[in-house]
Amino acid sequence: SSFNDFGLSPAMLTNLAHLGFETPTEIQAKAIRPGLSGRDVIAMAKTGSGKTAAFGISLVERLNPKLFAVQALVLCPTRELADQVAKAVRELARARENIKVLTLCGGVPIGPQIGSLSHGAHVVVGTPGRIQDHLRKQTLSLGRLKTVVLDEADRMLDMGFQEAMEDILSQTPPARQTLMFSATWPDAIRDLSRQYQKDPLDIRA
Ligand code: AMP
Repeated sequence: SSFNDFGLSPAMLTNLAHLGFETPTEIQAKAIRPGLSGRDVIAMAKTGSGKTAAFGISLVERLNPKLFAVQALVLCPTRELADQVAKAVRELARARENIKVLTLCGGVPIGPQIGSLSHGAHVVVGTPGRIQDHLRKQTLSLGRLKTVVLDEADRMLDMGFQEAMEDILSQTPPARQTLMFSATWPDAIRDLSRQYQKDPLDIRA
């Protein structure tokens, strides 16, 4: 298949070519079109499968740059992954004017993050604990969220983030799109999907 098959914007297609993405990976070929349509997706995908762009491309395409509110949230198990995801989303967002991507992870002072949030962001990438901190302080609002991504959801469960994930999801609009990526398929992942996704498309790449 080709990136031209998915209904992407001309700007995104040009950007993908600049990034050297010529052919979609298997997970991308299966996830991008449903992602663009707003459908929930649960995908079994490992690092190296191209999973970041599989959710990043549709996430960026669905943003409204003129709306200065957090429209997409990506939850990651670690700061390292969050930094990587934020970098990839920023690269994909180069096709769009003025998209702001903010990383919110623990282990660093919260003050500067609050300052950054006050200037507005379209996309937040972060770890569950620090996202919860911001929700508690009301320095982050998820009321305008269109898409939430649980990246490496199985690892987040392993790290004890189940309650945090559920708390965060409960503070997002019911009509949101929920994308789940996981390398493995334990019962806890199925339960999470059953509870927080609507008619998810099941993808194995
Ligand atoms: P990921 O599995 O998301 O960590 O991506 C693994 C690597 O593959 C990253 O360095 C991406 O930039 C790269 N990549 C993702 N999709 C493509 C593609 N369609 N063509 C070429 N490289 C890609």
